[in-house]
Amino acid sequence: MIDFDNMIINYIKREEKQRVVGRYYPSEIGGCLRKVWFLYKQPKEVETDLLKIFHIGEIVHDFVVDVLKSEKNPEVELISAEQPFELKMRDYIISGRVDDIILLKSENKKILVEVKSIGELNGLNDAKQQHKMQLQLYMFATNIRDGVLLYVDKKNLRSKIFKIDYDEAEALKVLERFSILHSYLKDGVIPEPEAKLDVHKSWMCRFCEYKDECNKIDGVTINGKNNKK
Ligand code: SF4
Repeated sequence: MIDFDNMIINYIKREEKQRVVGRYYPSEIGGCLRKVWFLYKQPKEVETDLLKIFHIGEIVHDFVVDVLKSEKNPEVELISAEQPFELKMRDYIISGRVDDIILLKSENKKILVEVKSIGELNGLNDAKQQHKMQLQLYMFATNIRDGVLLYVDKKNLRSKIFKIDYDEAEALKVLERFSILHSYLKDGVIPEPEAKLDVHKSWMCRFCEYKDECNKIDGVTINGKNNKK
């Protein structure tokens, strides 16, 4: 018999793109800066389960594109999908892709749509902070000042949409994070364990593939308990 699980793994396996210091990605900047630092300095092969999750995200996004460009939904026009952009800063580059740009015909207004697939939509009452940061940067980079975060439940394709107002101060804060990350990477200095130190971000540690390396450095667990002997 064929081993379909294995065929899926063969299909979704991809050449890992080596991250280069000086080129940064908006989708990562809202996460823990120490983890991003590890991604550059100690790259690991992405686990198969994580690749599958990424792939489901791509499938959901393709579906959203089909919905947005369908003639059955004449109120919007899909202007572009996966549009790349680069922001050239003084000594580094921010490189990203805007999920979708649509035209809301009734208002003749362009809107950025950032799509996030999610495991459970119930209980989601606001867009997630790291996604808001990503969208603020996209609005800054594209000069389109209207944006939404569209969450789609992977189980049943239910969705929730959150309008995000452009906030220049927030966009500049995101840019500042890139500068901080760049300095840490250039200087070979590891950042603080940002997620561990912030009660709103500590959930990130549960999904972090650098937990062991991180705990070894400062001996602090995700619960804030000191492990140092
Ligand atoms: S374990 Fe937590 S604090 Fe440490 S790198 Fe990962 S996300 Fe950041």
